[in-house]
Amino acid sequence: MPWQIVIGLETHAQLSTRSKMFSGSSTAFGAEPNRQASAVDIALPGVLPVANRGAVERAIRFGLAVGGSIRRRSVFARKNYFYPDLPKGYQISQYELPIIEGGALLIPAADGERSIPLTRAHLEEDAGKSLHEDFQGATGIDLNRAGTPLLEIVTEPALTSAEEAVSYARALHALLRWIDVCDGNMQEGSFRCDANVSVRRNASDPLGTRCEIKNLNSFRFLEQAIRHEARRQIELIEDGGRVRQETRLYDPDRDETRPMRSKEDAHDYRYFPDPDLLPLEVTPDWVESVRAQMPELPAAMRSRLAGELGLAAYDAAILTGSRELARYFEAIASRLPGNAKLAANWVMGEILGRLNREGLEIGACPVDAARLAGLLARVADGTVSGKTAKEVLDALWSGTETADEVIQARGLTQISDSGELEVIIDGILAQNPAQVAEFRGGKQKVFGFFVGAAMKATRGKGNPAQVNALLRRKLGADA
Ligand code: ADP
Ligand code: MG
Repeated sequence: MPWQIVIGLETHAQLSTRSKMFSGSSTAFGAEPNRQASAVDIALPGVLPVANRGAVERAIRFGLAVGGSIRRRSVFARKNYFYPDLPKGYQISQYELPIIEGGALLIPAADGERSIPLTRAHLEEDAGKSLHEDFQGATGIDLNRAGTPLLEIVTEPALTSAEEAVSYARALHALLRWIDVCDGNMQEGSFRCDANVSVRRNASDPLGTRCEIKNLNSFRFLEQAIRHEARRQIELIEDGGRVRQETRLYDPDRDETRPMRSKEDAHDYRYFPDPDLLPLEVTPDWVESVRAQMPELPAAMRSRLAGELGLAAYDAAILTGSRELARYFEAIASRLPGNAKLAANWVMGEILGRLNREGLEIGACPVDAARLAGLLARVADGTVSGKTAKEVLDALWSGTETADEVIQARGLTQISDSGELEVIIDGILAQNPAQVAEFRGGKQKVFGFFVGAAMKATRGKGNPAQVNALLRRKLGADA
């Protein structure tokens, strides 16, 4: 049965402001409970919220990055519900008039790119946290997180598989970090997704009833939760049942979703404009001044790397995975005119491989762009072979010298002097008359023996192309 899975994601991104959405207290993670909760955050009577300009600016940056429309006038609303970590009894959010509407996010797809349409992105505040550990028969409340600015980014129900949802979430995560609006730290809860999932028998049927799986804070959980929820719904319907609209939780230990509460409808929240806050006005001048400070966006950089430098689309996508990586690559490529592919191969292979093995981010790479470019210049001009260059990279990785210093000190210069190589090869042929005869008698495989002997005699420093050419000539293989 060709079931279609339909997914809409709501992502909560904590904005990287130093202070909260409506108060001056710090948003730093990890403080002692309730040390960063001001009178506004704990909702003492008579306090007044003041919107954080930096948070609004970050929302504008996002709107520009996804090509959404930025409302000149948006309105903060109260979303009323009771929960112990929400002392006001309501969350300040945006409802009817969100700051950003529309726009789209490009994600990689099998045949290039796919554009995922966004519904909206609105500003709101985070809630506090309930603490269940360390308390016997009681729950602790930590309001440090209460009031942290959030941008909630909502997609249309346009994603059609768990993998596609993950690929969207990864692209969004990378974009938010790229434009410096969210630190993306998923362990600390800076980036959390709610997945709305429904199924239908045919893509042309109306949308099925959805369930919403809350607070998925890793890409792996997001993927597993969607898979399981879709399978649960399909089995339920095939068994003659009906999906009930509800909010569910994913339990990674048992790899299943289970009901948390029946899903409220918007009218249950009794939304209304917050009388304590003026409508938010974003003038065209403000938008233009934010636009003037935007970095080049990843999609634009990808097509530039493919166009100007001739990189494959796949390579360009990897190298624009983060702004730091893209900057690193560009700093190397600009020092190696005409050798962008060499630079791309080394960054994607050796550098990312080593960083990955050591659990390091590109920002902590022990070999900076200048030193790597110095090494690659020696590969490009034939001073060292690719193999020797890896040995030099080992030295750069653990030391502070330049590639030229390492090559000099260790005498690693490739022997490209054909006179010198000729003497070595003549010696090898003279010492191995039996193998020479075998080769001349038609045994092609013996050629590898001579190459090996030549590389050994030069301690790996013979220029491989020249060694090959000389051997072929001397053995009469070209004739
Ligand atoms: P809320 O969950 O806060 O009530 P919405 O009703 O606007 O908000 O929907 C939230 C998300 O659910 C959006 O990403 C939307 O695309 C998605 N969604 C809506 N209907 C469906 C459906 N039938 N199947 C899958 N996703 C859906
Ligand atoms: Mg929702």
